[in-house]
Formats: sequence, structure tokens, C-alpha cells
Amino acid sequence: MSENGQKAIELPASITVRDLAKTINTSPIDILKILMSNGVIANINQLVDFDTAAIVASEMGFEAKMETPEEVVLPDVGEIPLWRRVIAEEATADLIARAPVVTILGHVDHGKTTLLDAIRHTDVAAGEAGGITQHIGAYQVEHNGKPITFLDTPGHAAFTAMRARGAQGADIVVLVVAADDGVMPQTREAINHAKAAKVPILVALNKIDKANADPDRVKHQLSEVGLVSDEWGGDTIVVPLSAKQKKGIDDLLEAILLVAETMEICANPSGKTIGAVIEAEMDKARGAIATLLVQNGTLEVGDVVLVGTSLGRLKAMFDFRGRRLRKAGPATPVSVMGLNDVPSAGDQFEVVASEKDARVIATERRQSKEKAAATPKTAFTLEQLYSRVQSGEDKELRLVVKADVQGSLEPIMSSLKDLSSDDIRINILHAETGNIGENDIMLAAASQAIVIGFSVQADTGARRLAETEGVSIRLYDIIYRMIEDIELALKGMFEPELRETAIGHAEVRAIFKISKVGNIAGCRVSDGEIHRNAHMKVLRGGQELFKGEISSLKRLQESANEVRAGFECGIGLRGFNDFAVGDILECYVLQKV
Ligand code: GDP
Repeated sequence: MSENGQKAIELPASITVRDLAKTINTSPIDILKILMSNGVIANINQLVDFDTAAIVASEMGFEAKMETPEEVVLPDVGEIPLWRRVIAEEATADLIARAPVVTILGHVDHGKTTLLDAIRHTDVAAGEAGGITQHIGAYQVEHNGKPITFLDTPGHAAFTAMRARGAQGADIVVLVVAADDGVMPQTREAINHAKAAKVPILVALNKIDKANADPDRVKHQLSEVGLVSDEWGGDTIVVPLSAKQKKGIDDLLEAILLVAETMEICANPSGKTIGAVIEAEMDKARGAIATLLVQNGTLEVGDVVLVGTSLGRLKAMFDFRGRRLRKAGPATPVSVMGLNDVPSAGDQFEVVASEKDARVIATERRQSKEKAAATPKTAFTLEQLYSRVQSGEDKELRLVVKADVQGSLEPIMSSLKDLSSDDIRINILHAETGNIGENDIMLAAASQAIVIGFSVQADTGARRLAETEGVSIRLYDIIYRMIEDIELALKGMFEPELRETAIGHAEVRAIFKISKVGNIAGCRVSDGEIHRNAHMKVLRGGQELFKGEISSLKRLQESANEVRAGFECGIGLRGFNDFAVGDILECYVLQKV
């Protein structure tokens, strides 16, 4: 009971009339009547916002409090990007505000490309005569005299790839959601990618020109995924717009500047010059062309730039309008010529003192890269978890969860969340139905997470990427096995996985029937060794026919403990008699992985 004698209830940021009636245990008709007496004509499926619902509730004797949306715990992951560390070391007095760098994410066909075009156009129309912009992967516009930089490769694949390489280019994510379609799988994926990167999200509620646009429904859906609109008391700015009709674009730019103001987005233009590669390609006539985003310092023609193992003295620099520049300050995207090789998008670049210095560092990097390529990249595995927790290296287990159907995802999520303890927290970065794809691997790579799949497969591309990025994938078919595995890993009681390692093969050449003993295969060991105490497999036509133990191993009538390649022997298997000439008997041991 509250002080005024009303019963306390919690209501979400928005609720349908039907659900509100259920919550306060009355009939929807009563609610509609109260709404009507307050001048709101509604139907039973209509969403009402918290304030309206609270008034109705109050008239029915309830005091409503806003439900606190589930707390979103942001992961503490990965290394702080180098450019952030560089800026952190600059004297505060030297830091000045720079343009925020914005990236646009969202579900396919919700209007990312149209919005990027509309924004670019607004500015061109605003004054630049004949401003034909070139695609260099990023552009800058001005709003009320303040610059904003947009990365114009939409989609979270690019965003996460950049983060996985340590550059983390964007300060703000604009999430495009079509008002006629609402929150879709890639919308959720984008939200999780942005949250994992700890980048604030601003929603562009697009396509409001469409007859079937339903902004309230979308806001409700957004509140369910933790993005409560500021209109409803949350802290997510939602800007309704039509990218196609170029309406609401100014409001969006305004909102971006507003968010940027709260973030202390700054850099030192005269400090160390460092930044990220947005995109790069080889041009037949001009050599390697790269779009660089300056993140600190000022880049100048003539500077020696080092990116990964590429380097060179900058010969020329252009902005996104194709105009020549001599200098580019923080948050400016520029296309540059002069590198000796095409760098990778997302790599961090820096200006070094001389070409000689650059070459020395590039050579060192090349050598350590070759060395790293020779030793497979070590994945962060479940097996290592306990020691990482013990050493204080990690305080949480980050997971990307994929399952076959929504029905299995829910129990998995809730069981996993129950495993969190004071020592270690389970942080599910992303959970969705469907096979494990490259996006899942990129998210895991960027956040040092493990990918777990339930009754799903990993796509070929995803498996390949997991190998190169060092991401560990675990697949399960039984929920309790999955939970048990993770629980044991958290307690450091994880049974290491046993892997079968072949140590030798023998080919069956003849079969001998021995009464009371059964069939014995007359074999020749083709490679490795056959050990009396190891395990055996019978392979026929490449298929595994039987697995078991040796009952007898004889060489020249004598029992033997091992028989090496090139020698003949007789092998009997416990529980198997159906040898055929040509069968391959594989001898293997179980090794802890
Ligand atoms: P993307 O896949 O997110 O990049 O989406 P696109 O920008 O390619 O847009 C997908 C489709 O939606 C295109 O046919 C656009 O013309 C259309 N579209 C984009 N924005 C709007 C809008 O504000 N209103 C309407 N009616 N259609 C839009």
C-alpha cells in the first residue's frame, strides 16, 4: 500500500488497454470508459503510454510506478582502442571538441542507404554548389554550423569488423527502424552489437510517410528490447522521419548533436596523429587509395603513415567532395594516396617520424604476423575460463547464443542467467534463432566471447572466420548438457574434452576363423603403430563400422604390445567379428584438449 492508500503496481513504458485491464484485474470496457472520460478514444488493442495508464490506474485505486526495464549490463571487454589511449594521454587543456562520428545500423530495407543519401543531400542543397560527393566510405555534414561525420558503409558487419580490429570508429549509432515494419531480427542484432561496443543508440523511426506506419507500436517494441523512448520517460531519443521524403532529417542531426554534447567527444588537433582505415582499394592508375578517419592530431600531405604493415609518404589527400586538402584534423575523413600497399579496413594508422622508422616497425610486424600465422590464434575457450577468472583477467563470461527455435532460446537464456554468481557474471551479448553466421563470429571476436549453438550448425564461412579470428564455437543438442558444461567451467571443474588422435592404421588382408576365439584379422600395419592398450576403429569405405578394444594382438604367433608400420600382425577385437578384406583398422588414443 502506498501512503495515499492506493495499491502499488508497476507498469511498462507502454501497455495495451487489454493488458492494462489484466494487470489491474478489471474489464477492458471499464478502462475504455475511463479513457473516454479523459478525452481519449481508444480500442482494446491500442497502446497507451505510461502517463495515461497511470491516470487510469489511479482512478481504479492503484498507484503506478514505471517498471524498471531490465538492466543492460555492458561488457567490459577488449582492449581500449589505441586512439582512445592516445587521447587519454593528451593534456586536458589541449583537447577540443571534434565532430561526432556516426554509423547507421538497422534491418535490411528499413532505409539505411536512403537515409545516408538524404543526409548527404541536405548539406549539399544547403549551399555547396555542384557538390557532387564521391563515395569514399565516409562524409561530413554541417548542422547549425557544427560538423558531423557519417560512416557510410551501413550495417553492423562493417561496424563490428572495425571494432574487432581495435579501431572502434563510431561514437554514436543511429538505428534505423521502419515504422511500418518494426523491430526485426537484424534490428535486435544491431542493438546488441552497439551495446557490446558501449556506443549510445539513437533511433531514426523511418518511413513515417507510409499509410501503415505505426510509430507507437514500434516504440513499444523498442521498449521491450531496452530502448525506452524519451517521450515515455526513457533515455533513448526516437526521431520520426521519412528518409525518402527527406522529412525530419534536421531533427535527426539536431538529436545527434544533442547526444554528442553529453559525451565529451574531443581530440587534440596538434597531438599525436592517429586514426582508422575506413576502406581501401588498389587503383590501377593511382596505386593504393585509402580512406582514413583522423581520430587525433592532424594529418598532412608529406606525413609518413604506417598502417599494419603498409606504409608510405602521403602524396595527396582529398575530402569526400574530391577536393584536394593539405591538412585534415580530428574526425575528418580523407582519401589518401601514397601507401605502398592496401591496408585492411578497421586497422589503426599512425604518423611516424620517417620512412626508415616506418619500415623497421613494418618489418617487425610482418615477422610477428608470420609467426602468429604459423601458430594458430588461441581462442578464448570455456576450458580457460576458470583460470582467467582466478587470475582476475576476466569477471564475466560473454556468450553469443544461437538456437533452432524461440522455444529453446528462452529456457536456455534463463538457465544461463541463473548461473551468474558474485565471482562471475554471464553476459549474453546476443541471442537469436538461426545458424551461426559470420556476424555472430565477428561480434564474439570483438568482445572475446564464446559462441554457443543449440541444435544449429555453424555456416562454412562462420567456421572459417572463427578459426582465423580465434573464436571458440560450442554446439549442443541437449540443453542440460550445455548448461552443465558452462556451470562446470565456471566452477573450474570442467572436464577437458577428449579428442581422438589416430596413432596408426592397419589394413586387413585375410580373415582367420578361430574356434572359441572368433575372427582374427590378418593385417599389415600401413602407418604409425598399433598398441595393445589403445582403442580401435574399423573403417570400411571411409565409414566407421565399429569402435572398441583389442582382445588380442599377435605377431608371429606371439602376443605383442605394439606392432610398427611395415609389419604383419593378427588383430582380434572385443565384440566384433565381421572383418572384411580391405577394412582399415585405425588405432587411436584419447587426448585431453
Ligand atoms: P537499407 O537496406 O536499409 O539500406 O534500405 P534502403 O535505403 O535501400 O531502402 C529500402 C526501401 O525502402 C527502398 O525502396 C527505399 O526507397 C524505401 N524507403 C526508404 N526510406 C523510406 C521512407 O522514408 N519512406 C518510404 N515510403 N520508403 C522508404
